[in-house]
Amino acid sequence: MPITAFSKQQGRELDVEQWLRLHGYAAQGDAELVGVPNALRALASADIECSCCGAAGAVLVGRGRGRATGRAVTQNHFRFRGPDGSNPHDPLCDYFDEKKVSGSEYLTNFSTDRSALTRAIRELVCRAIQGGLLSQRDMRRMRQWFLDVKSQHAFTMDVSADLLQWCVDLWSAKAYRPVGQFPFRPEHGALPGFDWQAAAEQEWARRNADLFDLCGRQRVHFHRRWIERPLKIAAQRAGETLFDPTPLQTQYEAATTLARFAADYVFDAGPGAAPIALQRHASEWGPTGHALLAFSALLLFLRDWDLEAGVALFVHVRTLPPAEDDLAGNLIGLNPFHDFEAWQVIRVARLIGAQRTDRRPAQEQVADVLKDLRVQHAHWEAARSAA
Ligand SMILES: [Zn+2]
Repeated sequence: MPITAFSKQQGRELDVEQWLRLHGYAAQGDAELVGVPNALRALASADIECSCCGAAGAVLVGRGRGRATGRAVTQNHFRFRGPDGSNPHDPLCDYFDEKKVSGSEYLTNFSTDRSALTRAIRELVCRAIQGGLLSQRDMRRMRQWFLDVKSQHAFTMDVSADLLQWCVDLWSAKAYRPVGQFPFRPEHGALPGFDWQAAAEQEWARRNADLFDLCGRQRVHFHRRWIERPLKIAAQRAGETLFDPTPLQTQYEAATTLARFAADYVFDAGPGAAPIALQRHASEWGPTGHALLAFSALLLFLRDWDLEAGVALFVHVRTLPPAEDDLAGNLIGLNPFHDFEAWQVIRVARLIGAQRTDRRPAQEQVADVLKDLRVQHAHWEAARSAA
């Protein structure tokens, strides 16, 4: 669901509304774009290309409304179709599958604060262009930079639902319990009501300590909730060659930090006006955060990913006079960090898949450990009786 795309004629990235206004059509009164003349649609198709891969065949799509509520559920966006209805995106384009990129987000409720934020970011982009702080060339350079870094880390999606579930089982085996926060000793089994199952799970987790090190280094947790999105991505993109964005960890952290700061000052009313969704962790921002993260990434890119310099640039842009021409450009459509947390989980799952020594289901392995612990206990008891 690209919100912005590149106009060849204008030499800049624009959203649907901006592009239509440049061609004399005011979209405000026509949220669903039903009144756009066919000639203008044809012009869009010839003029606009995907800002990620250069695909042609743009279709203007108006705000979608939920059948039951009549409320807007999607905002104006571009869709790309070949003359025969095929998908014209490069298979490695972020928008290769326009619906899959945003997944269920494609139809999530499109709240008003989200569109206000989108508009506010657009205005800041125009302001910065007007003030000479950034240009269309910078945006293209940033996109290229991301593409280059990611393509150095391309891989074939080979993570299965079973592997992700295995990681969750391993993670939950280590869950805090009083028993097993220390190594098992055979005499523990002599305790009345000793929890053998918990002890076996903990022991199994301990025997796989090196796999937990992988999670710790990447700051990934395999809670059930954390694998929902990775499961979806892994199933949808199975067998495809994909870019791994996770080597951009430092840049991602800088961008989310700047974005969190910027969210408080995008609106004149200050921190109170920031969308509630952005007060949560960046991994939960969803589409609300796309525009802000894309903008933050661009500011940081222009300052070599130095956070303080990026914040200073944001303050500079924010305190410039408002843009006289809010058609100067846009970049909100492509958040280079979309689904970053999910990709991290997928990356660590792949590492675990390659490093684990036993691929059998967790339950089977824990049952074996349990048998082993009981044997150790029986030996201890026999030795004690013999003494
Ligand atoms: Zn594309």
